[in-house]
Amino acid sequence: MSHYAFLLFAILLPGTSFAQSTSTGTNLKISEVAAGLNIPMNGDNCRYSRNDLITMDRKAMDALKIPAGYDEANKACAELSRKGTEASNRAAGLTGDDWQKANDESVRYFEQAGECYKAAQAMIPKDKDEQANDWACLELTGHLHDDGMSSCTPVAQQSLNFVPKNPVRVEGKESYHFVSLPGIGFSGFHISKPYRYTMVQESDGKLGITVKIKFTGVATKEAGMKEKIQQRLDEAATIWEKQSPGKGIHFHFISVGDDGNPDFTVDLKPNAKGDLYDTYWLPSVFSDDTGKSTVAHELGHMMGIPDEYDPVRSVTWEVNDDLDTLRCNPRGIMCDFYKQKVYPYYYYLITRRGICVGGADVDINSKVKQSLDQVQQIQSADSAKKCDSTDQTVDSGAK
Ligand SMILES: [Zn+2]
Repeated sequence: MSHYAFLLFAILLPGTSFAQSTSTGTNLKISEVAAGLNIPMNGDNCRYSRNDLITMDRKAMDALKIPAGYDEANKACAELSRKGTEASNRAAGLTGDDWQKANDESVRYFEQAGECYKAAQAMIPKDKDEQANDWACLELTGHLHDDGMSSCTPVAQQSLNFVPKNPVRVEGKESYHFVSLPGIGFSGFHISKPYRYTMVQESDGKLGITVKIKFTGVATKEAGMKEKIQQRLDEAATIWEKQSPGKGIHFHFISVGDDGNPDFTVDLKPNAKGDLYDTYWLPSVFSDDTGKSTVAHELGHMMGIPDEYDPVRSVTWEVNDDLDTLRCNPRGIMCDFYKQKVYPYYYYLITRRGICVGGADVDINSKVKQSLDQVQQIQSADSAKKCDSTDQTVDSGAK
């Protein structure tokens, strides 16, 4: 529930326009970016609508239900295990050949039980997340359009492999979409929210991304809170790091004081109805089990990725199930903040900005050089269309 309340709050704010950033990066068509991320498209359009994907995902989720016969299979395994324990108990009172016989019997039963449990487990279908790339198409298109650096769309591999020669400071704004009521002629509005982070080349040659947060409020004075905060931030950084392409990007989310030049100042508000990522968080995110993914979600915002769920439906009512309520890929961390799945397009959105603002500082190593050559070839073959980031009309349905 926690951060849904942020949206209630946000809806009351007047719409503001977002700043247009000057980009020195490259400018590919969305379909060219998508191809580099293995996202299939039909020309310049995503293959499926949001409603199509919800329907397809619902079918996929239904197929994951525990099949008939699973409980019986488990019971049979438990029986084998029980026989193993029985034989083992019997062996305890025996010696010599009798012990050997009972012991062998026990081992055999336990082995059979192990195989049996494995087979029972295999009866449950695995979630293949088959719609992931088509969801990514809708979200990537929307997020790029809403980014203050929307006209900067370098090649995917170039972005994912980007390592700056000198530290690169990334600052900008991203639009968050709200109510749209076409029936009464109200097209809705968005508010623009900041992202701020630093990109550096680390001693192992890999990219490091750092976000520094200053926490304020009485809760920060609690015993052990300082340690709890940093531990949670480290856990959130691990969520981002371990799913980064080739696990090749380091993330550092650091709690700092005024002298640490914070990127964001966040008030810990015990009585808040949720989190507003750049203003206040509930102190409970540092103690509740679910806090790990919530913090990783809020850090996603700090690095410039907006919410993917339908704000109105999420705030006002729960519709049938998560798919219906959220209307986004329910496995993704920016769709459902209780989930920890981080998709490649999130990393593209974040890393590409280093190229967008890096200009001459970009260190052209051979891998990146290859990608840049590729970009030039594509550009000379096809003068890329600019995504018009000055478009102020808001219609989340168009995403
Ligand atoms: Zn959020």
